[in-house]
Amino acid sequence: MLSYWEKQSFLHYHHIVIGAGFVGLSTAIEIKERFPKSSVLVLERGLLPTGASSKNAGFACMGSVTELLDDLKTVSESEMLFLFEWRKKGLEKLMERLGAAKMGYAENGSHELIDTHELEAIEKIDYLNALLQPFTHKTAFTLVNDKIEEFGFSKNEVKALISNNCEGEIHSGKTLRALTDFTIEKGIEIKTGAAVLRFEEEANKVTVVCHNSFLNEELLLTCNTLTLCTNAFTKQLLHEVDVRPGRGQVLITKPIPGLKFKGIFHFQQGYYYFREIDGRVLFGGGRNLDFNSEATTSFDLNEQIQNGLEEKLRTLILPNTPFEIDNRWTGIMAFGPTKKPIVQAFSEKIFGAFRMGGMGVALGSEVAIQVAELIKEKVG
Ligand SMILES: Cc1cc2nc3c(=O)[nH]c(=O)nc-3n(C[C@H](O)[C@H](O)[C@H](O)COP(=O)(O)OP(=O)(O)OC[C@H]3O[C@@H](n4cnc5c(N)ncnc54)[C@H](O)[C@@H]3O)c2cc1C
Repeated sequence: MLSYWEKQSFLHYHHIVIGAGFVGLSTAIEIKERFPKSSVLVLERGLLPTGASSKNAGFACMGSVTELLDDLKTVSESEMLFLFEWRKKGLEKLMERLGAAKMGYAENGSHELIDTHELEAIEKIDYLNALLQPFTHKTAFTLVNDKIEEFGFSKNEVKALISNNCEGEIHSGKTLRALTDFTIEKGIEIKTGAAVLRFEEEANKVTVVCHNSFLNEELLLTCNTLTLCTNAFTKQLLHEVDVRPGRGQVLITKPIPGLKFKGIFHFQQGYYYFREIDGRVLFGGGRNLDFNSEATTSFDLNEQIQNGLEEKLRTLILPNTPFEIDNRWTGIMAFGPTKKPIVQAFSEKIFGAFRMGGMGVALGSEVAIQVAELIKEKVG
């Protein structure tokens, strides 16, 4: 039961965005920049954003050698380069908006570990460097095998090491916090604990039905445009889209005295990733060990994969170095047949920017620009 005052002042917005991850917040900002006089609301079902943005590894990813070569099996060179450029522009936008300090941005090096089966990728480094040069304006990848020993990795398992000279790292918590603050400073409202159950498009408005958990009842908001930035969870609201969830398992060690490396590392086409943070090792991935069970929106830990991560930590990353696990968590990514995100106008009033794969940190801000431009085109 709503009061006269509530009905007058709290239920209508010009633009509503669903999802307070990197993409939702960036989209709300881009909309507000294009329509400064309009009211913009972000609805987030969790008390905290609860998807991927606050759960990830914080790599400002552009793509490793084996990942880019793998992409080229499903997309053309120009499509691969197009996405590379989006990631680059997205990261530049995020940096311009928040500044490196607030993001905990650092360039401590980025490397890909190559095993025996992947050695042929090394022969393609020059080819990729030439392709990427117009975008990177520098040599993207260099072979640095001498560092395998310096970093203390298992020489039995790591046969080559490629430096990726275009990537950095962020502190995902600080970045999302700073982006949230920036969103609020722009005069955008964010409501958390506001799960959207469904929406209905009418001739002159969109009605967004939320679950008001305290009163256990539905709350109906209206808006002129609705944008879904719900990534892996989009199918719950837009049933026909091709979005497949992919859970990511993560663990972090306690601080390790004398840890031999800094920076970010990938291996097996990005299925595994680890980094140094605060003298600890954060390690995640292993979805390829159990694709079926990880194609889920449930946040449960997978014991088999968590054990697999620990094993790789012991044998490959930190051989002969004792460590203790401090914390484990999961986050949910969104995948499709290619790495291309969906940025689409579904009607005159319904828009979407989702399916960020495992690279939304850098990509998110550019995707937000693209969807806001679509809204501007439709709404004028
Ligand atoms: C373990 C892990 C590691 C990763 N590592 C990296 C990395 O190192 N580098 C990188 O670039 N990317 C990484 N990613 C991917 C990256 O985090 C995502 O691509 C990015 O965060 C996606 O942002 P988003 O805003 O689209 O989605 P999300 O952050 O998932 O945001 C979607 C939001 O929508 C909300 N929502 C969903 N449905 C509803 C609803 N019905 N009502 C209201 N709210 C709703 C959710 O609660 C969520 O907060 C990783 C992801 C995971 C899980």
